[in-house]
Amino acid sequence: MKIGVLALQGAFAEHINLLRRLGVEAVEVRLPQELADLDGLIIPGGESTTIGKLAELYGLMAPLQQFAQEKPVWGTCAGMIFMAKDIGRQQPLLGLMDVVVERNAFGRQVDSFEVDLDIPALNGLNGHAPFPAVFIRAPRLVSANEAAGATVLARLADGTPVAAQQGHWLVTSFHPELTDDLRLHHYFVNMVAAALAAAPPKAVATG
Ligand code: GLN
Repeated sequence: MKIGVLALQGAFAEHINLLRRLGVEAVEVRLPQELADLDGLIIPGGESTTIGKLAELYGLMAPLQQFAQEKPVWGTCAGMIFMAKDIGRQQPLLGLMDVVVERNAFGRQVDSFEVDLDIPALNGLNGHAPFPAVFIRAPRLVSANEAAGATVLARLADGTPVAAQQGHWLVTSFHPELTDDLRLHHYFVNMVAAALAAAPPKAVATG
């Protein structure tokens, strides 16, 4: 299994470290052709407008959209914004997930914060402890279209949704790569493994 991390800007090195700690081959992705042999992709946190502009500049928009049709993709923070269909303003978006996202949703007073988050989907992956979720100028989910298959995975105590999944797409408002907790990366690796198991076998060239 080989997982790429979009390395245009932001916290990509940290994702790569955590994937490697899980024993997964992980590589930086900057060019369309680097998607070719990947089984999954993480889009990191950073600045979503910058990531979007660079993705356009490097001709990555259509290749990323195409990749995402077939393979698991996980967006954290700015990556979540970039994967959304609707953020209520104009900037380059992949427009994959049927969620509405609000950027910088937590205001200046609480620019950055950490909370213990209950993520039921992680139960069974090394214990049931809450997940230490780090939010940095984070977006929030305004809504997830359940009819389209988008499901909320975690909410803050006040009910604000901050993680969702739609088939083989995952988004989180926070930064699991900045903690020592490997469970969300483990969860995504399991999604990639499931997609690999379900994929038709690749044609083998003969002769
Ligand atoms: N505020 C950033 C944005 O809107 C996201 C912050 C982050 O990724 N930590 O793109």
